[in-house]
Amino acid sequence: MEIIRVENLRYVYKSSSGDKVALDDINFSINDGEFVAIIGTNGSGKSTLAKHFNALLLPTTGKIFIDGLDTSDEKNLWAVRENVGMVFQNPDSEIVAAIVEDDVAFGLENLGIEPNKIRERVDLALDAVNMSDYKKFAPSKLSGGQKQRIAIAGVIAMGTKIIVFDEPTAMLDPMGRREIMQMVKRLHTQGKTIIYITHFMEEAAEAQRVFVMESGQIIRDDTPREIFTDVKEMRRLGFDIPVAAELADRLRKKNFKLPPKILTADELVEALK
Ligand code: ADP
Ligand code: MG
Repeated sequence: MEIIRVENLRYVYKSSSGDKVALDDINFSINDGEFVAIIGTNGSGKSTLAKHFNALLLPTTGKIFIDGLDTSDEKNLWAVRENVGMVFQNPDSEIVAAIVEDDVAFGLENLGIEPNKIRERVDLALDAVNMSDYKKFAPSKLSGGQKQRIAIAGVIAMGTKIIVFDEPTAMLDPMGRREIMQMVKRLHTQGKTIIYITHFMEEAAEAQRVFVMESGQIIRDDTPREIFTDVKEMRRLGFDIPVAAELADRLRKKNFKLPPKILTADELVEALK
């Protein structure tokens, strides 16, 4: 069932130095429970698109529907925000409270939920991100990866159906990145709709569907296999190519007869056997 629909979305940043078209006629729909990754070069419009899902930005023209609700209609604002959680790149800019559990509770307090219900949901959410032991900690004492897990706990506590991640691992070390990715995959397995913006191709390869953005447009919407085995296009865009796909491409150029669209090391080994 469709949970997000974007129709002819255009977004223009207006400033004294001139207008900037950041999104240019975007159209797509996403089904309940899908895991979509968005990749694209810097300035291609990924963050601008992300901010449209929970009505932080409203279309200059065109429409976005979240679970059938038009985000531009002011009376839908809270219902939209109850459906869409956001996790951003910089963990420091997301922390609002001086103690971890208060930070996770913040969104719930704003919804006017009873205190004991809030505590229950906060405990469950902290448990889900393996951060229960840090409940009484000051967020400032945590690592970047732990702060991102707290931000994710905040979204889990809210119980939104859709979670939008805007480069959540960009400031983390490889270990922190892996932890976040595991959490994202688990949330997807539990039925959440995931929109995951990243410049790490191996992360995008975990999604069911990949959007490639360029100059404010979605230029590709396909499976990771189709996208990442298109070595020529990946190179043109300046993206990393998965190692196995790149090796397969080079071997084909040396006249190795390999099946098309090899993506993983296992597939390459099997083909060469
Ligand atoms: P991405 O997240 O893919 O790097 P953004 O959505 O941040 O891209 O930006 C898309 C385009 O809009 C870029 O050209 C960027 O410079 C411009 N832009 C982003 N934010 C603003 C803003 N607040 N005012 C004016 N232009 C902006
Ligand atoms: Mg961005």
